[in-house]
Amino acid sequence: MDTLKISANIIKCVHSELNLEEKEWIKAACDATYRSYSPYSGFRVGAAMVLEGSIVLTGSNQENAAYPSGMCAERTVLFYANSLHPDLRVEALIVAAADGDGFTDNPVSPCGSCRQVLLECEVRFGYPVRVYLYGKSGIYIISSARDLLPLAFDSF
Ligand SMILES: [Zn+2]
Repeated sequence: MDTLKISANIIKCVHSELNLEEKEWIKAACDATYRSYSPYSGFRVGAAMVLEGSIVLTGSNQENAAYPSGMCAERTVLFYANSLHPDLRVEALIVAAADGDGFTDNPVSPCGSCRQVLLECEVRFGYPVRVYLYGKSGIYIISSARDLLPLAFDSF
């Protein structure tokens, strides 16, 4: 019997270490939190998506009284991006979240379903999607969605 060890490299940095373009992406994700519809949880999530050609789109979580009918910010913007620009590859996803006290101190990670959808996007275009997870205390940068979902279900 062997043990399979899985690891991922995650860069942790502070906002001042980002370049100007990355700071704009973070701002876009943070701004999107204000467009969240989250009357039930009060947890506002914003996501920005960077497509090839430096096109930046945003989305936010959309809750519903029938909870499973709601949608995470990450999938909201990913499906929006792919339906609006089906031929443009996704280059980066940026996520920020806030509650009644403001933006979270620690980065918030996408849920399992969002990771699966993001990975499909990465496989579809054959291009890694960089993921930025924003928190006031620091920002995590993951170079590929695959690092967020080891042993992923992959039909390709
Ligand atoms: Zn999700």
